[in-house]
Amino acid sequence: MRFERLLKLLFPALWGGLALAAGLAALALLPAGEDTKLTRILQHGLALALLIAAVIWIRHVNARSKTWKNRARENAAQAQDLALRLNHDNATGLINHKVFAERVRAAATGLSGNQTLCVVSIDLESRWPSGTTFTTAKDEALLAASTDLMRHVADRLEVCYCLARSAGKGFSLMVAFDEDQGVSAPDIAKAITDVFLRPVQTALGASLISPVIGYAVSNTPDQDTAELINNANLAVANASETSRWRTVAYKPIMREELDRRTIVENALSSAIEANDCLPHFQPQFNLTTGRIYGVEALARWYHSDLGWISPLEFIPIAEGNGDIISLGWRILETSCSEVQLLPGDLSLSVNLSVAQLLSDDVMTMLEECLDRSGLPASRLKLEVTEATLMSDLKRVQTILNELRAFGVGISLDDFGAGYSALSYLTDFHWDEIKIDRSLATRAVKDAKQREILKLVLGIAETMGSEVMIEGIETVEQRDILVDLGCTRGQGYLFGGPMAIDDISTLFFPERQRLAQARISGISRLP
Ligand code: C2E
Ligand code: CA
Ligand code: CA
Repeated sequence: MRFERLLKLLFPALWGGLALAAGLAALALLPAGEDTKLTRILQHGLALALLIAAVIWIRHVNARSKTWKNRARENAAQAQDLALRLNHDNATGLINHKVFAERVRAAATGLSGNQTLCVVSIDLESRWPSGTTFTTAKDEALLAASTDLMRHVADRLEVCYCLARSAGKGFSLMVAFDEDQGVSAPDIAKAITDVFLRPVQTALGASLISPVIGYAVSNTPDQDTAELINNANLAVANASETSRWRTVAYKPIMREELDRRTIVENALSSAIEANDCLPHFQPQFNLTTGRIYGVEALARWYHSDLGWISPLEFIPIAEGNGDIISLGWRILETSCSEVQLLPGDLSLSVNLSVAQLLSDDVMTMLEECLDRSGLPASRLKLEVTEATLMSDLKRVQTILNELRAFGVGISLDDFGAGYSALSYLTDFHWDEIKIDRSLATRAVKDAKQREILKLVLGIAETMGSEVMIEGIETVEQRDILVDLGCTRGQGYLFGGPMAIDDISTLFFPERQRLAQARISGISRLP
């Protein structure tokens, strides 16, 4: 390219040079000392040729340099535009997370002794009212209007700030303030929350947005600023997940939890494969006779470094990554095999996740589990929760009916823990309704809640469903619940989840003795 340019630049000069050379050659051919008319004509011609060549060349160079200048200007504008687009968000004109990270780094370096640097992560989208389908234009208008509101908040606080679009679903705000400015991180978070209490107005309509906020602070110039931003993001993720608090300050425990979650997530699939997740069994009792009538299988996982991990920790992870299907069937099959060895009338309850229930091979898997274990379908109860019903009511009801027709019992788990619409009790023929520990505890303490429990007991009786109370912990609770007419229960008062051998030893000692006698009898044979 450079060579071509050089050639183009020198081309007119070559013509001029040629004209000059031709003139000089003509002069050289003339006889020396003769001042003829022809010589003068040639001299003038040569001077003219030189002049013309010079003019052409100068004009050419001028034109070329103008084009190059224009091109350079265009290129610079394009580069600037590209940089702007790469570094800024289209909808709001705010800088993006990459530039934001640089600004935070720069601000941290210049931090003086009494200054605080606060990074606030504001998540707007996770709190869009559910079911709202915004057009992109409306989304963008809302983002732009929200940007103005947040700028307004920061301006009013009279602090040094930098607002950006975050890599996630909202905004990042960096604020630097002095001790004597009377500002604090919770104040900033509150000011942002307050400004969104009213609907956000845009030309395309108004919307109520309720932001989730996470923040992290630093007072040291040697703070790892990428970590500071991550901490604020971790706090906002925490606020979104728990949905209990709309504003959450970063705490080191969050990072520990995240690290643990990562370990658990990474180890779960192979633990399921290796059969390290196994069922324990919680006994279920007839409250009036005091006799055990069934057990509930509850998954347990022993991790070589972390020890026992609660299903409350690994079941949601398994549900999130799809591992729940293989885990659920393994728990079902193992528990069917183990309970099959206990006395004939003991029933087995197993939790069935929504993913298992909605999988195409649910009937085949169930049949296989029962066939392989030898447990009759009539001894098995499958527990589903309200959340399962809410996922796809009609489809869930159809599958549950197929399962009932196959001979297994169906139980509604955790009733009274969520919204618990009474219609769920009557829309399907439940074999059992399990009252969640929270409702049972409330009913023991509060007369109004007792009336609700009585209502549920009445509906269950009309519908021909058994009622089982979960989480009975004290004798007092048991007595009140029995007075209310509850006949079945499980809870720590009677026994927590335990290994099948402990169920056998504690509740079927004769059977255990018999088995031992049989083993010792065999060992004594010659
Ligand atoms: P869940 O099905 O409601 O199980 C009852 C939970 O309450 C169990 O917790 C049990 O240990 C606990 N519990 C029992 N009695 C008492 C009591 O008196 N007081 C208190 N405070 N708690 C009591 P766990 O074993 O930690 O299981 C938690 C949840 O994990 C289960 O709640 C169930 O939703 C889920 N889960 C456990 N195993 C499985 C499984 O194999 N598959 C599926 N899909 N979910 C499972
Ligand atoms: Ca359950
Ligand atoms: Ca339950």
